Amino acid sequence: MTQRSKCLQSNHKTAQITDLIRVAQRLDPPLPGEHPHRSRSNCACNPCTVDRHNTCENPHKCAVKQKHDSLSSLPS
Ligand SMILES: [Zn+2]
Ligand SMILES: [Zn+2]
Repeated sequence: MTQRSKCLQSNHKTAQITDLIRVAQRLDPPLPGEHPHRSRSNCACNPCTVDRHNTCENPHKCAVKQKHDSLSSLPS
């Protein structure tokens, strides 16, 4: 298991499919009034702030990995 998927499981609590969606969703355009997500480890958007609080050191990388994984697991 890579360090990133370990982080996703233990720090982002991605046990449910809804959690996986929540992790990747920050990469989508933000809702009006929300802090937009930035492609950096110290991003100030809400989910990144929560993730760093949960001892993830780079929420952006986790979100990118999660999005990539969920895209590649889609049935073609
Ligand atoms: Zn963010
Ligand atoms: Zn993480």
